Amino acid sequence: IKNLKKYFPIRTPLGRTRSYVKAVDDVSFTLFEGETYGLVGESGCGKSTTGRTILRLLEPTAGECLLDQQDIFQMNQKELRDVRKRIQMVFQDPYSALNPKKRIGKTLEESLAIHRISSKKVRTELVMELLHKVGFQKSQYYRYPHEFSGGQRQRIGLARALILNPKIVICDEPVSALDVSIQSQVINLLEEVQEEFKLTYLFVAHDLSVVRHISDRVGVMYLGHIIEEAKTDDLYKDPLHPYTKALISAVPIADPKQKRERIALKGEIPSPINPPSGCVFHTRCPYVMERCKTDIPALETKENGHRVACHLYDDM
Ligand code: SF4
Ligand code: MG
Repeated sequence: IKNLKKYFPIRTPLGRTRSYVKAVDDVSFTLFEGETYGLVGESGCGKSTTGRTILRLLEPTAGECLLDQQDIFQMNQKELRDVRKRIQMVFQDPYSALNPKKRIGKTLEESLAIHRISSKKVRTELVMELLHKVGFQKSQYYRYPHEFSGGQRQRIGLARALILNPKIVICDEPVSALDVSIQSQVINLLEEVQEEFKLTYLFVAHDLSVVRHISDRVGVMYLGHIIEEAKTDDLYKDPLHPYTKALISAVPIADPKQKRERIALKGEIPSPINPPSGCVFHTRCPYVMERCKTDIPALETKENGHRVACHLYDDM
């Protein structure tokens, strides 16, 4: 992903564009084959929007998204259909991705039929096999979505995503709507199928503990920008950006002997319609300096591929 921007126009009643919500503003990152890249941040930071533009469920305003040297953002509908076989999405609310009036087996089969994959008989077998892989009995093929619990539906959502044998799965808050006890089951299943199907994940979530558990690398978003990115351990043990430090300091720790100072941030996240000049975090940053108000800090690489966008590290 290179220099991705997604601006949503705000129009006057007469249809003239008044201003823009800058949901994603110049985001660049690389997703390596086989890894899980966690995109984390508070709600409204642009992480879901980033995930959705990759599949062009939302049209990007600017930027490139290269898959094997081909820019998804420049593809026509036919090329895009092929890409959608290779990149699939798992949503926060799996129910919305399932047709309530259809038996789930039928819903899963339909994606195969749309892409003209094999015969009816083979399709049914494929679906049964996949349902079995995500922990269902074959008889559940004939059930309707409302007959399943939230966690079960998310497993069906995952099966739906896997049916076309994708390489990449974009998981948008896949466990945030589930009870904590069910979350770990779904996370474990995600990890199992990743191994078995050799998947690459873009894992979008606001829960730092979940992201830490599943990700190899993590990008932290704030107001439409990636402000820090690192290998998971480096990011959680040694966060550099003041915003990341504050986020991590707010996560409860299990070990009471381990002391950690809670960094409380002042104020609310500013509006993405009128984001702050310079560093977008400057209105809330405990370390703000004069230049932060005017100069946009670039996301620069420090040690170990650790990237940070903050003037505190300008000379390092
Ligand atoms: Fe804080 Fe300045 Fe760093 Fe922004 S650039 S995070 S305002 S110190
Ligand atoms: Mg979201």
